Amino acid sequence: MQISQGKNLSRAKVENQSAIRNMIYQRGPISRLEISEKLELALPTITTNVATLIAKGLVKEVENAPRAEKTLGRRTTLIDIAEDSRYFIGIEMRGALRRACVSDYRGNRLYTAADDTFYADYEENIRATCEMAKKLLSREDVRDKIAGVGICVPGLVDSGKGILRVHPGYQWRNKDLRRDAARLLGYEGPISVENNACARAYGAHLFHQDLLREAQSFAYLYISAGIACPLCFNSLSPGGTIAGEGEVGHMVMDPAGPVCSCGNRGCLEAYASERAVLDRAAVALRTGHAPILRKLCPGPEEISIEKVLEAQDQGDPAILAIMEDAVTRLGLAIANIDNFVRPDTMLIESKFFLQERNRIRLLEVIHQNLYTETVMDVKFSFVPPDAFSGALGAAAAAIREDLKAYVE
Ligand SMILES: [Zn+2]
Repeated sequence: MQISQGKNLSRAKVENQSAIRNMIYQRGPISRLEISEKLELALPTITTNVATLIAKGLVKEVENAPRAEKTLGRRTTLIDIAEDSRYFIGIEMRGALRRACVSDYRGNRLYTAADDTFYADYEENIRATCEMAKKLLSREDVRDKIAGVGICVPGLVDSGKGILRVHPGYQWRNKDLRRDAARLLGYEGPISVENNACARAYGAHLFHQDLLREAQSFAYLYISAGIACPLCFNSLSPGGTIAGEGEVGHMVMDPAGPVCSCGNRGCLEAYASERAVLDRAAVALRTGHAPILRKLCPGPEEISIEKVLEAQDQGDPAILAIMEDAVTRLGLAIANIDNFVRPDTMLIESKFFLQERNRIRLLEVIHQNLYTETVMDVKFSFVPPDAFSGALGAAAAAIREDLKAYVE
């Protein structure tokens, strides 16, 4: 009896402290009294925990501006996260794109590293990835403050076990990413493993509450070589709760369409991913149908999304048609997602929507295909594409784990 009570008590202690740390992270600067009211925990519990966290340097007291009408000029002391107290390494690992960064609690990037050598082989890839990240990890001004590492990869990930179940593009299956990264990094601390679109959603949730405003739920549409759209419930727990990887790139638009990387036909990705657009643009180049793109890319190896978008901007007829098709299908997919789950906000990260005409066309298609166009309560925000958003999101996943851990 005694033992079980003791166990329950310690579990309550752990849960209370985690709730307090999360509240400070999400709502700070915040007063002790407000934390106590919001969490429905006794004020002495808040005071004791805050004292421990201050002693460890993880949270700090900040002076609030006097609120004359209420306190006759008396300043209240607020509590906020000490953003610089711990650092996190975030890593994104893809076939031809590897990024790593050192982030503090608030998503400020202190250092970054990048490597775009192509490795289709898992072993080679993770070795190169960890080699790159190790340089950040071993920096003198970083290593003693690292409290966690986050790694994200495309594909189906079991984040609880730290295993990449399958990366369809490269046929990587059942790879123990957590174990391999720990060994190659020589790092014994916590390692979070996430799908790379989910990581971006965690990053938005932790570092971009400005974009999410009061949204209770949001979807994060990420378009790169593939397309994914995880759905996130914006709760007080760090990073919220994510429902699946959101592999909407493989929703079938036309069963008789082109073959997708997954082996099925006519998936959204086969029309509207960066890879699909580049493939189609390359065909137009070869067959002499894209005169403006041809001027921008004298050799076929020079083709890039940036060049394609430039050719679209300059009115290349073949590229205009390819982009119109891609953007229309994305608009249809977004309308379908919205009709199905109706998130409060949808964040969209893609180079395609650096072009105003693509943003306008996308919203037009969405509006035309929503179940009811009179209820436009879903807000669409275009997130500037960022080659480090995955690495930073992986760091967010590590921060999320850190905030759950008990501090003695
Ligand atoms: Zn597919």
